[in-house]
Amino acid sequence: MAFDRFGRKIHYLRISLTDHCNLRCVYCMPEEMTFRPNAEMMQDDEILLLTRLFANLGFDKIRLTGGEPTVRLNVVDIVRGIAGTPGIRNVTMTTNGVLLSKLAGPLAGAGLKRVNVSLDTLNPAKFKRLTRWGDIEDVWEGILAAEQAGLAPVKLNAVIVRGYNEEDVTDLARLTIEHPWQVRFIEMMPFAGATDLQTGQMVSAEEMIGRVEQTLGPLAPANDGKLDGEARVFHIPGAKGDVGFISSVSAPFCADCTRARLTADGILRMCLLREHEIDLLTPLRGGATLEELRTLVLDGVWSKPWGHGLAEGEIPLNRVMSEIGG
Ligand code: SAM
Ligand code: SF4
Repeated sequence: MAFDRFGRKIHYLRISLTDHCNLRCVYCMPEEMTFRPNAEMMQDDEILLLTRLFANLGFDKIRLTGGEPTVRLNVVDIVRGIAGTPGIRNVTMTTNGVLLSKLAGPLAGAGLKRVNVSLDTLNPAKFKRLTRWGDIEDVWEGILAAEQAGLAPVKLNAVIVRGYNEEDVTDLARLTIEHPWQVRFIEMMPFAGATDLQTGQMVSAEEMIGRVEQTLGPLAPANDGKLDGEARVFHIPGAKGDVGFISSVSAPFCADCTRARLTADGILRMCLLREHEIDLLTPLRGGATLEELRTLVLDGVWSKPWGHGLAEGEIPLNRVMSEIGG
């Protein structure tokens, strides 16, 4: 088991399969983003070796992310390998959904349990403005394909950006009336790349809740008032699904964090919003033994910071969001 110095059991690993992406969301990366060459990224066998190592340390839950995980070559085989790793109980994915209409079935067949699909608005023109390159039809088909493939309950992630989509929270929340989905509204976090927009146009979870309640009436707490992952969840009376609010900036959930992140270039990062990193890939390629790698991971977990430092003005600037893995 891997514990940090505050006694938190760390057992949830987010693995970034690539920093590449087929969209260019304004809150995530610049349009002229350059990506890492393939040789610098973990190869398939390296991902599976590190997964075994983490599983041996008690990690049982894996979320695949990126960049866009579905653009990774062999993504279905990678999912199969991870899902088949002894000790791994749950493999999920966060995706922009663009390629899901083709991949949902094969991914489910390979052992993927669920997907979170990012969808920030239901308005096609606003969707294009937010993602720069996206077509909302592709994502919608992807969501339906995911549901049909049994990747359920589908969760939708919406990052809310003032001046872009703050008025769309109500329409997105309304989706849960007819669909058994969880629509999760996310406060925009600051990183390198789009820092001015991220800090200047952030919308708080409280404001989002207020906007939804103004139109749809009071929200009832769901999940016995407990967090669902990092989301505070609510229910529109009579709805089939739930709405969630992720207030990483205004009301962080750091005390309950059980996560570690492995970037596409094989770096262990113990906090999304702290720059500290532990390189695993260079020692792995340099011939480190499994025991040496295990020690690196355990030391990294031990050094996990209590929480982020946004309130003190500490913004992580060594990577943009897509290079860390959201
Ligand atoms: N490409 C996939 C996607 O968009 O779902 C996976 C990677 S993306 C970096 C993971 C999640 O992070 C997405 O839900 C995305 O909306 C969110 N995200 C990206 N930049 C963010 C930011 N600055 N603040 C908060 N969430 C962000
Ligand atoms: Fe790509 Fe996801 Fe970042 Fe959008 S949020 S640019 S889809 S990695």
